[in-house]
Amino acid sequence: MSILKYRDREYSCHRGETILDALLRQKVDLSYGCKQGICQACMLRSNITPPDYTQNNLTTDQRSKNCFLACQWQPEEDVCIDPVESQSFVNARVVSKSLLSQDVLRLTLEFQKPFEFHAGQFVNLKKSEQVIRSYSIASTPNHSNTVEFHIRLLTNGQFSQWAFHELEHGDVIPVSEPKGNCIYNTKGANENLLLIGTGTGLAPLLGIVTDAFEHGHSGRIHLFHGSHISEGLYLNTKLTQLSEKYENFYYSGCVSREASAVFFNGRANDMAFSQYPDLKGWRVFVCGNPEMIKDSQKRAFLNGASCGHIFSDAFLLNQ
Ligand SMILES: Cc1cc2nc3c(=O)[nH]c(=O)nc-3n(C[C@H](O)[C@H](O)[C@H](O)COP(=O)(O)OP(=O)(O)OC[C@H]3O[C@@H](n4cnc5c(N)ncnc54)[C@H](O)[C@@H]3O)c2cc1C
Repeated sequence: MSILKYRDREYSCHRGETILDALLRQKVDLSYGCKQGICQACMLRSNITPPDYTQNNLTTDQRSKNCFLACQWQPEEDVCIDPVESQSFVNARVVSKSLLSQDVLRLTLEFQKPFEFHAGQFVNLKKSEQVIRSYSIASTPNHSNTVEFHIRLLTNGQFSQWAFHELEHGDVIPVSEPKGNCIYNTKGANENLLLIGTGTGLAPLLGIVTDAFEHGHSGRIHLFHGSHISEGLYLNTKLTQLSEKYENFYYSGCVSREASAVFFNGRANDMAFSQYPDLKGWRVFVCGNPEMIKDSQKRAFLNGASCGHIFSDAFLLNQ
């Protein structure tokens, strides 16, 4: 067992327990989100150099200040911990809520000042100190002070149920700074892009595709969107229209658990990798289901894409 010193008090941390779990167990009021080292909501600072794996995706400045993700570190020694102003949240106002399908909400937030981000990044939205969730931005920075999200309703989901049923037009919600590197390369207008998304994994891909159009992208862009059922291909009409408008853009809706006369029958990543066996020089983006992403990263690499050109956002659910 090790001892954690936090705000002048000592707490126990059992062997194999993360610092976050130890402090929560002892009723310390800490903010946290995904608990899987992605959202950075539980970032703290220590008096000793934290192990590398607890600093994944932190900036050089944060690393040099011994910042770490409390949900990742299982310390084997005593550690003194300080809070950090880990996330600066700015308030945004709900300006629109509409249904994209029965269980996907389009939520548009407006900031007082322009919000700087890259299409394809994600932010943390805060319902309360205890309920902070990551959502990908579906729009591009071009759209002035507003950003759009696609939120899937989960049974008993604390954030999604609240967003669907309680959040109202005009309500204010704190939004973190943008995160993630699953973004369009503005200097690669003639590169070929393969995008694969399941469910609301379409959101960041829509942002990337729109960004590519806005930058006059000339390479091939092929977007595969997968769902168990046809209803899940919630932007099918819009994406089909875009494929008619831009001759370098292709859209394939894929349905894996029902027979469809309209869409491809099968999983989106199976379709994509069998259609593109040679991905040398391509940029590949995969978003949504974590299992699908693991599988796709491997297959993109085996099909010739270089590691540095494979980008992903796994929509990990809270544990
Ligand atoms: C980088 C990143 C980006 C993300 N972007 C998006 C996005 O753009 N859109 C989006 O909708 N989500 C996105 N997510 C997921 C999102 O952060 C939340 O985890 C999700 O919305 C659930 O939050 P909740 O509070 O509603 O559910 P929670 O209260 O956190 O409950 C989640 C729990 O619900 C249970 N559950 C209930 N129904 C289901 C079901 N049908 N399938 C699986 N589990 C179920 C599971 O046990 C799960 O552990 C993203 C996640 C990450 C890490």
